[in-house]
Amino acid sequence: MTLKFHNTLTGRVDEFVSQTTNKVLIYSCGPTVYDSLHIGNWASYIYWDTLVRILMANNYEITRVINITDVGHLTSDADDGEDKLEKGAKREGKTSWEIAKIYTNDFIIGMEKFGMIKPQYIAKATDYIPDQINLIRKLKDKGYTYQINDGIYFDTSKFPTYADFAHIDINAQRAGARIEFNPEKRNSSDFALWKFTPTDTKRDMEWVTPGDLVDYGLSIIDYSKLQSHSSIEPNPHNPKSIIHNLPTMGFPGWHLECSAIAMNILGNTLDIHTGGIDHIPVHHTNEIAQSEAATGVRFSNYWLHNNFLKVDGTKISKSLGNGYTISDLHEKNFSPLDFRMFILQGHYKSEGNFTFDALTSAKNRLHNWRNIAAFRHQTHDTIQNDEEKNQTNKIIPSYATPQAIIEAIDNDLGTPEALKIIDDTFSDILSTQLKNVNQQSLMQIIETIDNLLGLQLIESTPDISDDNKRVIIERNTARDQKDWAKADELRNQLLGSGIILRDSDSQSVWEYK
Ligand code: AMP
Ligand code: ZN
Repeated sequence: MTLKFHNTLTGRVDEFVSQTTNKVLIYSCGPTVYDSLHIGNWASYIYWDTLVRILMANNYEITRVINITDVGHLTSDADDGEDKLEKGAKREGKTSWEIAKIYTNDFIIGMEKFGMIKPQYIAKATDYIPDQINLIRKLKDKGYTYQINDGIYFDTSKFPTYADFAHIDINAQRAGARIEFNPEKRNSSDFALWKFTPTDTKRDMEWVTPGDLVDYGLSIIDYSKLQSHSSIEPNPHNPKSIIHNLPTMGFPGWHLECSAIAMNILGNTLDIHTGGIDHIPVHHTNEIAQSEAATGVRFSNYWLHNNFLKVDGTKISKSLGNGYTISDLHEKNFSPLDFRMFILQGHYKSEGNFTFDALTSAKNRLHNWRNIAAFRHQTHDTIQNDEEKNQTNKIIPSYATPQAIIEAIDNDLGTPEALKIIDDTFSDILSTQLKNVNQQSLMQIIETIDNLLGLQLIESTPDISDDNKRVIIERNTARDQKDWAKADELRNQLLGSGIILRDSDSQSVWEYK
């Protein structure tokens, strides 16, 4: 079975072939750090954690970058509106720098709580300002940029394949965008590479706009179309041009950071780029345009996009208060791993629907899996001879090998299928006498689950204490001797230590409460 993914670039499920054998370069668009991440954001990072894990299982050496958007992301993806970081700063009475620090930490700690594999690089946009400026310089030298009153923009009409990635109907977009279309922009799809700090404003996050990037009074714009823009004055020598106030300070546009960071760390062509489907028509389309315009080579060979998670069938939104965070889940007694199990039950290309009932089912499923993982403490490899060995091997059927689980995930991150294979295997184990379960095979399956799905079964299922083991032996003796009163008393004693005994005719198995 080969490793394959749905590639937005081709619109197909493609076999994965990296540029360098056994090495893979991954860039994942990271969070905008102005608030705690909500479960929709976390869903996205759980899917990409599975991607990393399946690549590792296929023996790839991974170099992965996640960026931190700590500057430049405005509330509208069309380069308008309030700066998200400044919004967060106002909300909490802090500076944008403080807000960025708080929520960057929140993201890093969150990734640990979800048991995600750490990327090799976590790169903040504010640490890569010179790279972003250099990229603008390259684009300017190649004639892709122009300057208007509020910044330096990328002229998307100069990049002929601009609409291809997202199959955008540019004409329809132009017609639809007329109302909010900044009239100074040459095309509605043009996007800011650098925004000037308005002259009467001081931003928390701003940098000197390099003089060579700015054209003073050179932008030729039809002034007659700009009457409503009071800040724009006509050049008395040429009424069709404008004189700009000296734009000394500024900040990068949101899309720029991803291209600059990715190319600085990973090189001009990535193997895999990830993000949510919301990024296809604007953010990733713009990343491709500015990167490929600058380098002349393909920016990423594979583009993976996760579908969105809804809550109770509704879009996640601040106003509805349904953007639950890790703390919200914790307050309701759900762990990050319960949520991870919930997300793994769905496929990353399908829209997800979160409900607390569904999360409860996922939590129960994880609890059951943990109890089966704990069987490894109760079974022993007592294989005596070949005949017994053959018999024992039958107990975990052949489809439940680690390879079967890997193959399900190889197939475009098919975690729902992998979970089904595991459930089938576990129900076989449950209907088998413990003494007949092959401890080694069981251990292999649990390790595979932990490696590929990150559910931390081994870590979360410690053996019970020797004292409790003695109580179980004593209780089984009492049961054999039909001393029911004593057997019940000892059973309750174990319950007090968080251990449940499940009795059948032939055996008694302990489980966690
Ligand atoms: P942001 O901080 O808004 O840039 O989002 C961080 C990541 O979460 C991006 O890759 C988004 O595409 C993704 N994302 C945002 N909302 C959702 C959602 N409801 N479901 C899945 N992914 C989401
Ligand atoms: Zn990005």
